[in-house]
Amino acid sequence: MSVLLVGAGPGSADLLTLRAARALESAEVVVHDRLIDPSVLALVRHSAKLINVGKGPGDGFTQGHINDLLIELAQRYERVVRLKGGDPFVFGRGGEEWLALRAAGVAVEVVPGLTSALAGPLAGGIPVTHRGFSRGVVIITGHGADDDAVDLVGLGRSELTLVILMGVAQRARLARALIDDGRPATTPVAVIERAWTASQRTRRSVLGKLGDLDVHAPAIIVVGAVAALDLSETLAFVGSGVSVG
Ligand code: SAH
Repeated sequence: MSVLLVGAGPGSADLLTLRAARALESAEVVVHDRLIDPSVLALVRHSAKLINVGKGPGDGFTQGHINDLLIELAQRYERVVRLKGGDPFVFGRGGEEWLALRAAGVAVEVVPGLTSALAGPLAGGIPVTHRGFSRGVVIITGHGADDDAVDLVGLGRSELTLVILMGVAQRARLARALIDDGRPATTPVAVIERAWTASQRTRRSVLGKLGDLDVHAPAIIVVGAVAALDLSETLAFVGSGVSVG
């Protein structure tokens, strides 16, 4: 009994690892999340079973249901793939599934994926670190910011790049918290929607105006000097007040 816990990468299928592609091609059943690109699911054999357990509004799959389903499938099939967007272990609850499966005596193999936290900004020409701009990156979730679950204290005063996942709904609140904690309202921000898909889009602004940006999930929010960069443009940076060190 085993399950393969596989990272699907941030979008288009050619960003899968070879190992992930092989796992999909040989799977008998694939249990996947909502945000998986159609080009990735297209690699799954027609005879294989595809189960969408995407936790969108209103469809009753809890994490407990998903764990139970995986355990049950592992007992019935040889090649079960649990496919998650990006990397399964970056806000993907991969660890919880791994532990639940192990507790049930199911062996788990993992295939890491390219996380949207690092690859997403690059879709907008933004490197998360860049000499003279940022010496490091912090990845956080914006989910739960409404109940103060996200502790931003210290992140305002830091000059590290901040990459926020699941932050679109709470963007105004997150920006305010960072400004209150010492980040200048003029700090560059960028929002990359649907990175590495056919409909990707990048919006840029400054922290003080993040709440006014018309953006939609799924998206990555980048805060910090690198957010003003667009390495895909001839002009190496956009916006003002940022100098190349
Ligand atoms: N495990 C995933 C993240 C899951 S949390 C990973 O490693 O990428 C879901 C959040 O990821 C979304 O709310 C969004 O912030 C981000 N996300 C995932 N795919 C994305 C994409 N293609 N473009 C922009 N953001 C994405």
